Amino acid sequence: MSFCVKCGIDCEDTINGLCLECFLNGRELMKLPHHVDLQRCTNCEEYYIRERWIPMDEADAVEETAISGISIIAEGELISVGTFADKQDDRTFQVTIQADIGVGGRITDAECKTLVRLKNTVCKKCSRQLGNYYEATLQIRSGDKGLTDELRDETVRRVRDSVELQSKTNRGLFITKVQEVRGGVDIQLSSTSLARSLTKDLIEAYGAESQESASLVGQTSDGLDMYRLTFLVRLPSYHIGDILEMNGKPHLLSGLNKTGGRLTSLNDFRDTSARKNEIQAMKILAKVSDRKDAIVLTSTGTEVQVMHPTNYSTIDLRIPQDAEIGETVQVVQIEDVLYYVP
Ligand SMILES: [Zn+2]
Ligand SMILES: [Zn+2]
Repeated sequence: MSFCVKCGIDCEDTINGLCLECFLNGRELMKLPHHVDLQRCTNCEEYYIRERWIPMDEADAVEETAISGISIIAEGELISVGTFADKQDDRTFQVTIQADIGVGGRITDAECKTLVRLKNTVCKKCSRQLGNYYEATLQIRSGDKGLTDELRDETVRRVRDSVELQSKTNRGLFITKVQEVRGGVDIQLSSTSLARSLTKDLIEAYGAESQESASLVGQTSDGLDMYRLTFLVRLPSYHIGDILEMNGKPHLLSGLNKTGGRLTSLNDFRDTSARKNEIQAMKILAKVSDRKDAIVLTSTGTEVQVMHPTNYSTIDLRIPQDAEIGETVQVVQIEDVLYYVP
């Protein structure tokens, strides 16, 4: 048992020698500064809260900012807060905060006011983006004649999706510019490591080859040489879905990776793997765009009868065991023979 040095009462616990009553008496438990500034990016409209740029509603941002200004006495613990914001003009909100604060096993309420002042600014990401900042260029090219429109759109979409996903956890990652150039497309990127990871992804997805080069672009403010990297990604002339000739027979290129790929025979639908240099040497018999839809007339477990897409004759085609046959199937004609494409 101890006692309060002020009122002399016997009590279990004391705070700084005082009983809880004497400790709380007239004491300010919570403080807020006269005003708290809230920065808003005029470009992306995100708010700077607790040292991070975050997309949010103005009302939530104002309340969060007021709450971030709270300081409570060391002996107290913030249990809950309620806020009420009163807009005074376009840029100023008076925010009242009511809080429950736990001290010495008792919950006491406290109320304070502050002004949240909205400040327009441009966040670092936007100022870089608006200033066309970039560290690296990803050049996508094709091994043969030039990048087809389909492949260009597909790879650019893949890059965009990946950057969008990665930028959710790292705001510094963005695409500065996408530019169509002769033979392909150039993508300027805010970060070298981003460009490197996109290059790796394209190598794996397309069996592409890459080459890295650096050019000196100037010096940083502290006198270091500044380089900009270029990642040249050359897509092979073949692509997933193409029909290639292996051992004199048509095969569907059904998978690709860094070192090679998988080919599926159009005769018996058996899979074979091949090394990259073997695939490179194969003749391309048909591209994805050469495929046609054929109307299914009847189907059994191992065969399907279709109407030939150009001469309308009736043709029997072999199909794989597990094929799911709908109203049409994809077919490809190689020389005079029609094949089912799995
Ligand atoms: Zn006391
Ligand atoms: Zn911004």
